[in-house]
Amino acid sequence: MNSPDRYQAALANLQLPDEWHVHVAIRPRRRSVGIEVQPGGAVAVLIPPSADPEQVVRFVRSRRRWITEKVDTAVRLAPDRPVKALVNGDEFDLLGQRYQLQLVAGLPAGIEKLPAPSADRILYARAQRPEQVRQAIIGWYRQVGLDWVKREGRQYERDGRIEGLRYKVRDLGKHRWGLYRGAPKHITALHWAAFGLPVHLAEYVLVHEQAHATRPGGRPHGAAWQRRMNLWMPDWRQRQLELDEVGRHCWLGDYRLPAAAI
Ligand SMILES: [Zn+2]
Repeated sequence: MNSPDRYQAALANLQLPDEWHVHVAIRPRRRSVGIEVQPGGAVAVLIPPSADPEQVVRFVRSRRRWITEKVDTAVRLAPDRPVKALVNGDEFDLLGQRYQLQLVAGLPAGIEKLPAPSADRILYARAQRPEQVRQAIIGWYRQVGLDWVKREGRQYERDGRIEGLRYKVRDLGKHRWGLYRGAPKHITALHWAAFGLPVHLAEYVLVHEQAHATRPGGRPHGAAWQRRMNLWMPDWRQRQLELDEVGRHCWLGDYRLPAAAI
């Protein structure tokens, strides 16, 4: 029996709930046993190589209540992302407006390039392979989003005496809506998907990073940064909580291919 199995067998005696998906990981550099509740709610028990299985069991038993609370939160906040089919009628949210996708072979009257939104909120995109449609739509989010952050970000540059700041809109993966890169780059970057959020939440993401860009002293989200946030967005804590909830339903670019016809 190798060592993870020894611990796993010892933990089995605790009869922990199945939905915790408890698994063990041997961590050579750890000195003490730890527990990590992962996004989605799986529980990892982190074990230094020298630990005695009984000691691990005692530790996990003593943390049962803590684990229960953390798993509940992780399950509640687990992502539940839309998957688009990228066909006519698919809906896309961008800065508080909802658009319906219409795939077209050529340019509709009065439109110079695709994709393009119409006044009545049709999003025209060229009919092509789904991956290309997806790329085109994400490109549209990036373009509209970049114009928006440049425009909306300026008031904070002025007020916070931020100089020489640049902006980027790109893919930041599944766990971040925005980031600020310090000197010499000095860039506020937002995830393109953040523009699919309600506008007041996209604003929160922007203001959060602009507050970093003022380079407040202390820790990254410490007292000085919080003072700046309180000044610029008094209800930022509320918006942050809302983002945790709303954000998990936000489209991150996933699509599915149509079912094959038989
Ligand atoms: Zn931050």
